[in-house]
Amino acid sequence: MKIQMNVPLVEMDGDEMTRIIWSMIKERLIEPFVDLKTEYYDLGLENRDATADKVTRDAAEAVKKHRVGVKCATITPNAQRMEEYNLHEMWKSPNGTIRAVLDGTVFRAPILTKCVSPVVKNWKKPITIARHAYGDIYRATEYRVPEKGKAELKFTGESGEEYCETVYDFECPGVLMAMYNKDSSIESFARASFEYALSTKQDLWFSSKDTISKKYDGRFKAVFAEIFENEYKEKFEKAGIEYFYTLIDDAVARVIRSEGGFIWACKNYDGDVMSDMVSTAFGSLAMMTSVLVSPDGNFEYEAAHGTVTRHWYRYRAGEKTSTNPIATIFAWTGALKKRGELDGTPELTDFAERLEKATLATVEDGYMTKDLALLSETEVKKVCETLEFIKEIRSRL
Ligand code: NAP
Ligand code: MG
Repeated sequence: MKIQMNVPLVEMDGDEMTRIIWSMIKERLIEPFVDLKTEYYDLGLENRDATADKVTRDAAEAVKKHRVGVKCATITPNAQRMEEYNLHEMWKSPNGTIRAVLDGTVFRAPILTKCVSPVVKNWKKPITIARHAYGDIYRATEYRVPEKGKAELKFTGESGEEYCETVYDFECPGVLMAMYNKDSSIESFARASFEYALSTKQDLWFSSKDTISKKYDGRFKAVFAEIFENEYKEKFEKAGIEYFYTLIDDAVARVIRSEGGFIWACKNYDGDVMSDMVSTAFGSLAMMTSVLVSPDGNFEYEAAHGTVTRHWYRYRAGEKTSTNPIATIFAWTGALKKRGELDGTPELTDFAERLEKATLATVEDGYMTKDLALLSETEVKKVCETLEFIKEIRSRL
């Protein structure tokens, strides 16, 4: 008998090579063992275009309802994609839309195997990046300043009070941007980070540029300090873990010299950039998982990489590709484990753990995709195509 699920997962399908991998994983690694219940949303670019992107908003709302979702990588359209897919509009990044609905913090952690040691040789344990997933430049208003003139930043309070400051007296054309964040979102970022540190028993670091940005970044620093003092100090002491704040420049230097094994909370842009650096230094972008945790306890799991377009073009032309499915498999196992935990179905959690073990065992047995084979320090028995690799996992599972 297959393992039963009581509550559905929100399944968000995606684009290109990862869409192919998505169906392979479901068909060969999950559905034979689990009576899979999902609420399916097709976030493939064609369907986003056909529904005027309503499908993305509906999917995000569904995650709020069912509390757990798993998402395939999706194309964020640009000018070239507009033409390639003959789009009606340049739809916003689906991840951006989902984050705006769910708020929350994205935790990204590398998947370590015995075959690949980190580029930074003193890193022994994973470094998890906690990325604030709301506001800043991702929700900014930008202008191309076309001519000489004065730029002002104006706020009108509900009370009618106005505040206005000159940003710059432009003597020539230039560029201008205004961005924002909210106390409520910064507070939930802080709480999500403290909670995650406690639940994984790792130290928490937080960094920003408060020496330069005294009010904006200064607010982030103050909110973290306040919430730590009032709500987490004792819990951290009991758990034997630490919280500390440092300037982002100093954090970068310390991270490189560290052993790993901690959570690094970063503002939205810092987290975007630093997670790519950390995943690359741990081995491969294809070995990084990502989970969006919202303040009201909803979880959305995905791989940190994109749709692997270059491999897709080759696959479409009938060529063989060796695309690594591990991060996408771990997105599924993360979601299944969480579903099992929330619904009290330990068989589901147990299955997901077995699938993770089988995946890592396959790599450690010497069967891996090309990206890992190039980095592997242990013997490579076979460089597998995607489907071959999935079949190897299946035989171990
Ligand atoms: P990408 O899809 O992550 O791929 C960049 C390169 O990294 C690939 O060409 C490949 O290198 C390597 N790579 C990434 N994942 C791999 C895997 N699983 N197995 C093997 N190699 C892997 O990033 P991109 O090319 O910048 O973006 C492609 C599309 O994805 C874009 O349309 C973008 O909007 C979208 N995207 C979506 C998300 C998301 O949904 N979360 C995130 C990022 C990007 P080689 O070609 O050298 O083998
Ligand atoms: Mg990025």
